[in-house]
Amino acid sequence: MRLRKQYDVVVAGGGTAGVIAAIAAARTGAQTLLVEQYGNLGGVLTLGMSLKGVNDAEGRPALGGIGAELLSIARHSGGVTEVTEHPRHGSIMGQDPEAVKIALLDMARDSGMDMLLHSYFVDTMTDRGRIQAVRVANKAGLEVIPARVFVDCTGDADLAAAAGAEHVRGREKDGLHQPVSSIFRVGGADLERTWAYLETHPEDFETPPGYNGDEYSVAKFRARPGVGVAGFRALIAKARAAGDYSIPREDMGFNPMPDRPEVTINITRVHGIDGTDPDDLTRAEIETQRQMAEGVRFLRRYVPGFEHCYVVASPFQVGVRETRRVRGAYVLTAEDVKSGRNFPDQVARGAYPLDVHEVSTAAATGAEIPGGGGTDLSKILRSYGIPARCLMPIGVDNLLVAGRSLSATHEAAGSARGQPVCMATGHAAGTMAALAAASDGVPAGLPIAAVQETLRRQGAVIERP
Ligand SMILES: Cc1cc2nc3c(=O)[nH]c(=O)nc-3n(C[C@H](O)[C@H](O)[C@H](O)COP(=O)(O)OP(=O)(O)OC[C@H]3O[C@@H](n4cnc5c(N)ncnc54)[C@H](O)[C@@H]3O)c2cc1C
Repeated sequence: MRLRKQYDVVVAGGGTAGVIAAIAAARTGAQTLLVEQYGNLGGVLTLGMSLKGVNDAEGRPALGGIGAELLSIARHSGGVTEVTEHPRHGSIMGQDPEAVKIALLDMARDSGMDMLLHSYFVDTMTDRGRIQAVRVANKAGLEVIPARVFVDCTGDADLAAAAGAEHVRGREKDGLHQPVSSIFRVGGADLERTWAYLETHPEDFETPPGYNGDEYSVAKFRARPGVGVAGFRALIAKARAAGDYSIPREDMGFNPMPDRPEVTINITRVHGIDGTDPDDLTRAEIETQRQMAEGVRFLRRYVPGFEHCYVVASPFQVGVRETRRVRGAYVLTAEDVKSGRNFPDQVARGAYPLDVHEVSTAAATGAEIPGGGGTDLSKILRSYGIPARCLMPIGVDNLLVAGRSLSATHEAAGSARGQPVCMATGHAAGTMAALAAASDGVPAGLPIAAVQETLRRQGAVIERP
């Protein structure tokens, strides 16, 4: 087994939160290694979904620091749109995942961190609640990587679980998770025709049940680049009645790419999947790829403007919304999220809508889902604070967690999992890891005022502006 040199900070998972965390740690002065299983950085961010919640619904920024810098760099190359207010999501920003990938890689390289791609975190070597090293597997076999502080950005809390940190799974009452979806991108769309159709067919553009934002209107969306919507319920119902559609979902989300006739499509859905179970993941990949083909047939046959569309990109893997969440000294709640609560130890902010896709017990047992299943979505008027305690799992002293597996309830995680929020928690965790590595290696022992001051100096948004 190869033994690598000792690092100050090792970040596991180079996705939405992980790259930002590693950049933050390196810029804060830590010798940092980023470990990622795939050959690209960005994780689920590279599916091309629009970023909701960069600003809150009252237009105040919730994301600053390294995440905002990434978006600003990508904007210079035309890779993301401006932030626009959105009646359903509060705010929205369209993105081109290829531009974002390149910007991420440039920033990672410039930060001075080391990267280890094509390497899969396997387990930890832990002694009395302190991780000594992680073991990773790659083409060279197994490697041991020692460090002072670790940051788990695997999305699934793989490292935290392996090290014995407290964690939970899925919904509190039954442990079931939000459904998974494969996001794909199509080209050859004539969006002018699609908007014109929606203008005269409000039944395909209705305000969804339970939705608390302003009324939908095509005029609000049409002129704004990168602004996506969910709808097409009537067309889906028609296709289902004709036997052309079997996907357990009532609506379709679409996110136009900046400046070109390409659209990210969110239409597939599989319930009852545990994203940490390889057999479930295999089933989800096979089924969502079948649904992708069915979705493209539906688009061509039923949706005006998409008659000649074709698949430009299928995802690097099925999109998993929820698996493990660590238990920290504080558990973020839906009430905190909805009320825009602030905390004395807040180190990041969130404004992504509370977005919980139906968790179907029937589907978990393989049964049909009546009506297909919906999505609960509430926009966030005022951004909320995220306490440092949510990033420090109980049971392991030298570990931080960022991204969708932070300490939150099932419902609150429906907001904290948003891309801008993952970037913000990544920044906070990376900076805290570097500061802890420079002292006794225990993030919980850091003076919180000093952490907050460092983050402010780095441009992070901690207080609501
Ligand atoms: C279908 C879908 C639609 C969504 N839509 C939106 C949207 O419209 N807008 C929005 O803002 N957010 C959206 N989200 C939420 C958001 O995209 C994700 O929650 C967020 O990107 C997750 O970030 P993360 O850093 O926690 O995880 P990821 O971005 O998944 O990063 C985890 C990284 O860790 C790596 N990894 C995992 N395990 C290991 C291991 N054992 N060893 C090595 N590497 C490992 C992965 O390869 C990946 O690169 C959506 C999510 C999904 C799934």
